[in-house]
Amino acid sequence: MNPLEIRKDFPIFQEIINGHPLVYLDSAATSQKPRQVLEVLQRYYERENSNVHRGVHTLGTRATEAYENAREKVARFIHAPSANQVVFTRGTTESINMIAYGYARLKLKQGDEIVLPPSEHHSNLIPWQQVARATGARLKYLPLQGDGTIRLEDVEAAVTSDTKIVAIAHVSNVLGTINPVRDIADIAHRNGSIIVVDGAQSVPHMPVDVQELDCDFLAFSGHKMLGPTGVGVLYGKKSLLEEMEPTYFGGEMIDVVELHESTWKEAPWKFEGGTPIIAGAIGLGAAIDYLNRIGMAEIAEHDAHLAALAVDRLSKMDGISVYGPAAGQPRSGLVTFNLDGVHPHDVATVLDSVGVAVRAGHHCAQPLMRLLGVGSTARASFYLYNTEDDVEALAQALEQAKEFFGYAIG
Ligand code: PLP
Repeated sequence: MNPLEIRKDFPIFQEIINGHPLVYLDSAATSQKPRQVLEVLQRYYERENSNVHRGVHTLGTRATEAYENAREKVARFIHAPSANQVVFTRGTTESINMIAYGYARLKLKQGDEIVLPPSEHHSNLIPWQQVARATGARLKYLPLQGDGTIRLEDVEAAVTSDTKIVAIAHVSNVLGTINPVRDIADIAHRNGSIIVVDGAQSVPHMPVDVQELDCDFLAFSGHKMLGPTGVGVLYGKKSLLEEMEPTYFGGEMIDVVELHESTWKEAPWKFEGGTPIIAGAIGLGAAIDYLNRIGMAEIAEHDAHLAALAVDRLSKMDGISVYGPAAGQPRSGLVTFNLDGVHPHDVATVLDSVGVAVRAGHHCAQPLMRLLGVGSTARASFYLYNTEDDVEALAQALEQAKEFFGYAIG
C-alpha cells in the first residue's frame, strides 16, 4: 500500500492548518473520510433517498437494498456467520449500552460478577457500573501489568462460575495494547460467562474475525474506519440476539401491535426501532469497500510500523515519557506520551500551531490515567493515510514544544 497515493483520496489533506499542511494524528478519535465514501453519501441522497422497509415504490426499494447490502458487507468484513447478526447502531457506546440494557440488566442478579480491566474506555465501563447498580452484580477488575498488558493467569484467577460477563477492549485506545481476546473468551466460556468485546480500536485497524475470536458480542464505530459519524455496529451470536430485548420501541421494529401488547420482528430489525441510520450504514458499506481494496492485513502492518517508529523516535527524546508496551512488543497504531512537566493540552496546542493534530486529555479512561499516575496524556494515532514523514513531523514539532516550554519555564 502507498499512503501517498491513498492521501489523494482524502480531500481534508488539502487543508492548511495554521499555515502548515495538515499532519493528522488523531484517527483513534475519528478517521478522515475518502471521497469514495463522500460520493456514495451524496449519491444516496441525490438518487436513492427514501425510507427503508416501508415503501413499495422504486426509491424505497433502492434504499432498502442499499441499506441491507451494507449489512451484508459488514457481516463479511467481520466474518459474521449471517448478516442477521449485524445490528446498526449509533456507535460503540450505543452498542454496549444496548447489551447492558437489553441483556445484562435482565439476566444478572445479586452475587453475579462482571469482570473487566480498569483500562477500559468509559463506554465499556460505565454501562457495567449501571448494570451492577441495577442488579446487585459486582464489578471485578483484572490487574494490569505496568505496560498495560493483562496476564492470562490473572484472568483465570478472576473469572469464576459467578462471572456472567467479561467485558474487554480488543485494543486499548490509550496504550495500544492488543488483548488476547480469543484466550480470554475461552476462559469466559469455560466458566459459563459471555464475553463482550469493544472493537472500536481493532476493527478499523486489523483483520477481525468474530468466529475466530469466539466473542459473544462485538461493538464498533463507523466513524473510526473511514465511515460517517452516527453509525456503528453491534454484532452478537444468534442465540444471544434472540434472547436480548430491544432497547427502543416504536416503528420499524414491530411485528404485531395490539392495544395492550405487541410483538417484535426478529433480530437484527427488532433492535432498529424508528427510521434507521440509512445513509450512515450505506456510507459505512462504502468505507468497508475502501478498506478491503487496500487490505486489512496491510493496514495493520502499516499502522503498527508507524507506531513502532514513533515509539522509537520519541523514547530517544529527553523529557518525553512514552506509555504502553515496550519497543518491540505488540502495539496497535498509536502512541501515548507526555512532555514531562507540561500539560498535554499545552503540548497539543503547540503541535497544532504547526499543523500537527494529536489528542490530549484523559481519553475517556480516567481510571487508567490514575493507574498511570497522570491526569492526562497526549496521543498520536496513525492510519492508512499517514506516512513516516508524519512521524518525523511529530518529533520535530515536539522539539519545538520543548524549546517553547523550556523558555517559558526557564
Ligand atoms: N471504546 C474505545 C476503545 C474507543 O476508543 C472509543 C472511542 O474513542 C469508544 C469505545 C467509543 O466510541 P464512540 O464514541 O464512537 O461510541
